[in-house]
Amino acid sequence: MHSDPDTFSQLASAISGLHLQPPPENVLPSENIVTQARGKLQTTLSSSGVGFEETIRHIREDLAPGFNGSSRSPNYYGFVTGGSTPAAALADNLVTIYDQNAAVHLPQESIATNVEDSATSLLAQLLKLEPSQWPHRLFTTGATASNVLGLACGREYAISEASAHRSDPVCSVGELGIVEAMRSAGIDKLQILTTVPHSSLVKAAGILGLGRASVVDVGLPTVSHKFDLARLKNLLEQPRTASIIAVSASEVNTGLFATSGLEEMQEIRKLADTYGAWIHVDGAFGIFGRILTSPAHSDIISFCAGLDLADSITGDGHKLLNVPYDCGFFFSRHRDIAKCVFQNPNAPYLSTGAATDLLVSPSNVGLENSRRLRALPVYANLTAYGADGYRAMLERQIELSRGIAEYLIDSPDFELLPESDRSKEEVLNGVYIIVLFRAKDEGLNKEVTSRIKAGRKIYVSGTAWDGKPACRFAVSNWMTDAQRDLPIIKQVLSEVVEAWKKT
Ligand SMILES: *Cc1c(COP(=O)(O)O)cnc(C)c1O
Repeated sequence: MHSDPDTFSQLASAISGLHLQPPPENVLPSENIVTQARGKLQTTLSSSGVGFEETIRHIREDLAPGFNGSSRSPNYYGFVTGGSTPAAALADNLVTIYDQNAAVHLPQESIATNVEDSATSLLAQLLKLEPSQWPHRLFTTGATASNVLGLACGREYAISEASAHRSDPVCSVGELGIVEAMRSAGIDKLQILTTVPHSSLVKAAGILGLGRASVVDVGLPTVSHKFDLARLKNLLEQPRTASIIAVSASEVNTGLFATSGLEEMQEIRKLADTYGAWIHVDGAFGIFGRILTSPAHSDIISFCAGLDLADSITGDGHKLLNVPYDCGFFFSRHRDIAKCVFQNPNAPYLSTGAATDLLVSPSNVGLENSRRLRALPVYANLTAYGADGYRAMLERQIELSRGIAEYLIDSPDFELLPESDRSKEEVLNGVYIIVLFRAKDEGLNKEVTSRIKAGRKIYVSGTAWDGKPACRFAVSNWMTDAQRDLPIIKQVLSEVVEAWKKT
């Protein structure tokens, strides 16, 4: 027999005694190491197994060198990857060891669901959202899943609002299905009105049977991330049409916010109320702008003002909250809608029993039944670092982003995007945690992302802007330190330019 840990405490000490592979010295392992690690993957199922010790050795020594430094290195600026703080990383291991199922609220048996309620309440407070006004709060697998929840709730609401206007009885998509619900509500079309949506919002529309084609861009021709409010009103007014308004706060390529302040959100809220539309905010990482208080961040604070007027909000845990992957969150003001959409019908074995509190079972207000206690790493972080800790973390990330942006504005070789005719100071005040740019030399621009990555000191993502290649920094790791990291970034960028000029 293999010597597996056979008691709970042996397992716990085996995990806490693990010595992990340190982060690669550079942000990426070499291609060679990745290839080697891939070559060591098991391809045939063994009949007897190799046992605990050999398996752990195999993972640590053979496979782990092939992982990138995405969350372990502060110099990984690809995508918006976040990281994992010490408190969250340990809490996540505890989640695994305790293996609680946060599906059903069982107040006499476990506090798992209370942990989730507490964590989402603390999180709401962090984001300056009054918890009691957001009674439908839960953790998801990420912002994509939260966007699915947001559009599902919006679909339920908008269609039943349309039918309410015709004084029909309950008209639930969850109950009747979308075709029948729309027929009896007397509508032919359900549209999602948005600007520069994240791909996952369009994906969610596809999953939910609304169709990717139902997503309509109502951006201004010259400033694509901002709503054309006249056009928005026009589309909302269409007869026999139900609508969801999706606010991108902020957009993943540029970090720009769809709304500029409280008044604009109030106007959108008024339109939504007039036409029975649902407002969903995709705030995967942008919603954290609500933590900020300093005058240096007044632009971002104003872009985030009024986002609390939405019906539902998507946020990501594994980005700026810096908890391990597999964590997003979803807040909605409408618990009744949640039940219409997600209720487990006729499952007496999943019932809560004699709960005297107001908590509901996550399985009746979210996608999954059985689910990981994703709440614990978030709870740990909010307890460990508090509002000030998170604010300081975000301030460091913005400081570095603005440092990068300033370097690019001043550089003769690069151009900060989107192009702007505003002053340098005005541009920098609008920079959040995303920095989009290109090289002025067209030839270098085609290769700039791959040349930066080839040095393996920092990692950036390639994207496109105005039909041309562009490059993007996303600063989201808890370890970010502008004094330490900015010189490294400047050096890499100037070396890339020097090397190009020599070719
Ligand atoms: C990252 C992101 C998503 C998708 O998030 P996942 O966590 O990868 O599912 C959705 N919307 C925005 C604005 C994002 O930045």
